[in-house]
Amino acid sequence: MSPKTYPAADPRFVYQPSAEGEKPYRILLYYKYVTIEDPEGFAQEHRELCKCLELKGRILVAPEGINGTVSGTVDQTDAYLGYMNEHPLFRDLVFKIDDADEHAFQKMFVRPKKELVTFRLEDDVNPNEMTGTHLKPKEFFEMLQRDDVIVLDGRNDYEFDIGHFRGAIRPEVESFREFPDWIRENMEQFKDKPILTYCTGGIRCEKLSGFLMREGFKEVYQLDGGIATYGKDPEVQGKLFDGKMYVFDERISVPVNQVEPVVVGKCHHCGKTEDRYINCANDFCHKQHIVCPDCYEKHNQFCSKECEEYWLNRAEV
Ligand SMILES: [Zn+2]
Ligand SMILES: [Zn+2]
Repeated sequence: MSPKTYPAADPRFVYQPSAEGEKPYRILLYYKYVTIEDPEGFAQEHRELCKCLELKGRILVAPEGINGTVSGTVDQTDAYLGYMNEHPLFRDLVFKIDDADEHAFQKMFVRPKKELVTFRLEDDVNPNEMTGTHLKPKEFFEMLQRDDVIVLDGRNDYEFDIGHFRGAIRPEVESFREFPDWIRENMEQFKDKPILTYCTGGIRCEKLSGFLMREGFKEVYQLDGGIATYGKDPEVQGKLFDGKMYVFDERISVPVNQVEPVVVGKCHHCGKTEDRYINCANDFCHKQHIVCPDCYEKHNQFCSKECEEYWLNRAEV
């Protein structure tokens, strides 16, 4: 069966075939903040559907909505897109679609959660009530070039390190819930400036931009559909994004800038320019770190001498 093509005119599909041509698999990334009455029941039913379709990936279901990344063959993902487009809650859901050579996950998880993304605040931000102004890729690209705007990366530090928008502020956070404290300590002086936020697919900025507004930031914007959409936009083509986009699946990172791709990551050991992340070979550490080919050999995939010694000594026992 020949792969289906998704019309660029249909805003529900953000898709651009890869340069090498059609590939047998696809990876779908999506979210929607919408009230789901019975997340447990929904998750169970949805899990059965996904297993039946032989999809793999991770889907979170919460009272506030749904967030998923799944991989499957063209036919399997088409069947899923068809199902979701028929569902009364998800008809307008936007899918970012990537081509792939294989699955991007080993298993299929559909999990009920309290929240999709969390600040762990007493009074959480509801993006349906308060959120920053959405900017289309073209509008975001134009604002990026103004010199009065502040660009805040809405992701974790290790995601920033492998690629980010030129001139963006690197948040020193290892997880989303650290943002409120970090913002209160580091962003105070920018309250009167226009703030541009962005993240992978847009879900985190819905809350982050709402939080900034609640904290008194006067002009807050967010990149609609995130970097994933920006990189596929036929007009901007990922311009002004340096390095790669970190993704939470087996690919680890994907290209964004189609016009002038550069590498911004640095080897954890020697500092050489590199953009490959690996996990430390010590199972008790597993620290994700960037490593160059030389150091990959030299350090045997360990993040430190301590990890190497610990693990090798342990293995001898
Ligand atoms: Zn190195
Ligand atoms: Zn380690």
